[in-house]
Amino acid sequence: MKDMPFDVKKRFWKGIFRTVKDKIEFEGIGMHTGEEARVIIHPDESGEIRFLKNGVYIKADVDNVVDVFRGTSLHSEGERIDTVEHLMAVLFAAGINSAVIEFVRGEEFPIFDGSARVMAEAIDNVGIEEFIAEKVEGEGYFLTPLSVEDESKRVKATYVPSPGFEVSFLLDYRGTPIGIQTFKFNLTWQNFKRDIAPARTFGFEKELGFLKKKGLIKGASLDNAILVKEDGIVVKDSLRWENEFVRHKILDFLGDISLAGVKLDGKWLLERSGHKYNVALAKKVKWLAKRCVRRMNFEEIKELLPHRYPFLLVDRVLDFEEGKKIVTLKNVTGNEAFFTGHFPHRAVMPGVLIVEALAQSAGVLVLKSFNLKNITPFFAAIDKVRFKKPVKPGDTLIMEVELLMKKARICKVKGTAYVNAEVVTEGEFTFSLLADEFKKLQVCN
Ligand code: ZN
Repeated sequence: MKDMPFDVKKRFWKGIFRTVKDKIEFEGIGMHTGEEARVIIHPDESGEIRFLKNGVYIKADVDNVVDVFRGTSLHSEGERIDTVEHLMAVLFAAGINSAVIEFVRGEEFPIFDGSARVMAEAIDNVGIEEFIAEKVEGEGYFLTPLSVEDESKRVKATYVPSPGFEVSFLLDYRGTPIGIQTFKFNLTWQNFKRDIAPARTFGFEKELGFLKKKGLIKGASLDNAILVKEDGIVVKDSLRWENEFVRHKILDFLGDISLAGVKLDGKWLLERSGHKYNVALAKKVKWLAKRCVRRMNFEEIKELLPHRYPFLLVDRVLDFEEGKKIVTLKNVTGNEAFFTGHFPHRAVMPGVLIVEALAQSAGVLVLKSFNLKNITPFFAAIDKVRFKKPVKPGDTLIMEVELLMKKARICKVKGTAYVNAEVVTEGEFTFSLLADEFKKLQVCN
């Protein structure tokens, strides 16, 4: 842990779970369905946030997201619930990671005044219960930035590991009364209740017809949303802040990112993001968190592999399942020897070296799993190799290698290399495991 700039383990829920002390009931109409819903949050010790509707549990998980158009909807086994993001943001900010949210009536969470204030107050009223569970999910090491981008829409959602939990949002509705708004927010329960929870949702007058045609906003009114017209803003009472709009976007973001299932310290930089991109980022966060559970350091890797500078291409082992799978990491820097010649005018990591890095990862997997001494794996075949994206200085390669077959002195693996949770190279590799003559020679000398 000494080489870590901060205690990354703290960024994960380590078997300490938090639930509500008592059940909480909510009743109200849904923004889109316009229907009355009755929802009960129950204390629970499962270590998960789960919705319950018609006897079906729907885990609050990014893989269960079914719709991100004007709200975040989850589904499982044919049951669906809508507009969960405000409630999820409240639970996330309060550190609640274990609860059952039962939909007794209706399918859309009540919109109340368009903000999360009612839910935040309700949590404070009943209080929070902490308990230790044996199940530990997502404990580990999280080292690389992640991002989601849509250049044509100038949307960017980025995660950078660092201490604290800080969200910066740029909202850009130039040409409307909202204009450009920014807000920077440090996540604590107190800050959330004061600066984010009361921020209300909003809609544009020019979109009302289109949304109604789609069967949405049946419950919308000035009691639960701010209306943005071309020439001004219509709001019940008055705006709670001049930048209430960007604060509401942060509320939505917190609800969406909670669906990754881990709470990571870091800076979250959001430009023009919305449910679609928030959820895409949450998927990447979940992807990486799942791959960062255990660890082997550089010195331990050197004990297994004979490669040395400039040809040892694995820095760290993030996860290891004996005889099955390994996840490794290589930080690619501009100082790599190969960039001197490949290419002097435009540094791109040679694809064959990504294949080599995958092969070395496979070497660690096989040598460690079967406790092989004085054996070196040599390439026997490479198949189905695809190079999908260039790897450049500053990238972190995450490599996943699965053992497909091992017989006596032959083994076959499937390897996939990722940058930013996206595949850059994949292929299948066969190795001959040969006795290490070189080491014998050294002994003779
Ligand atoms: Zn919202």
